Amino acid sequence: MEVTYNCWHGCHKKSEGCKNCYVHRRDDSIGKDADLVVCNKDINLPVRKDRYGNYKYPEGTSFMTCFSSDFFIEEADEWREEVLRYMKERSDCTFFLITKRPERIALCLNPKDYPNLSIACTMENQKRFDERFPIYTALDMNYYGIMIEPMLEDINFNGYDLSKINIITVGGESGYNARTLNFDWVRKIYDMCKEKGIRFYFHQTGAKLLKDGKLYNIERKYQHSQAKKAFKVQEDR
Ligand code: SF4
Repeated sequence: MEVTYNCWHGCHKKSEGCKNCYVHRRDDSIGKDADLVVCNKDINLPVRKDRYGNYKYPEGTSFMTCFSSDFFIEEADEWREEVLRYMKERSDCTFFLITKRPERIALCLNPKDYPNLSIACTMENQKRFDERFPIYTALDMNYYGIMIEPMLEDINFNGYDLSKINIITVGGESGYNARTLNFDWVRKIYDMCKEKGIRFYFHQTGAKLLKDGKLYNIERKYQHSQAKKAFKVQEDR
């Protein structure tokens, strides 16, 4: 069972990948200030119980954590301990989060204390890859997941030690002002992962995909399925 667990809401744009952030887009559309970081009443979601005293979310639940903020944002420093307590209490469940702030991970927790927590890091272009990859991979963790989403340009991995990396996830950008994803960039990462034995996941195409010289405008409802198909085709070659 997968459950979205948004312990706090609101975030500040941090880098190029944040330009069309869905949290900001959605909040802007209802006149809400997305830069205001607030603790959600759902902060205790993982430990909520039913009237019989059983956890509402059973053993094995995957909590997709903090998808309307960044778990390591400064404003949440006062609330994070509470969530970390819940992660320990629910050692029978897993927690997954994505950050653009790897430099704050070690300030906030020791990842080894939370074996049921997986922290992925977003690196959307070469500049952010060069900046975040060394910080992220210097951490002592059980899991290393790189998210290149929205992928904004070709990324050169030469010279980087990828031996610790469990998975590289790639994806395009959704929404009206989406930036174009060039399928050649994705294919290059796919080939590299295959060669190095790293798991690869093409999460979604985004709204604009340039493939074999043709620009495709892809409706949101097809962006995941088209991504799946893209590599099915490649596998069949
Ligand atoms: S870090 Fe994530 S949640 Fe925060 S502004 Fe950037 S894209 Fe949005």
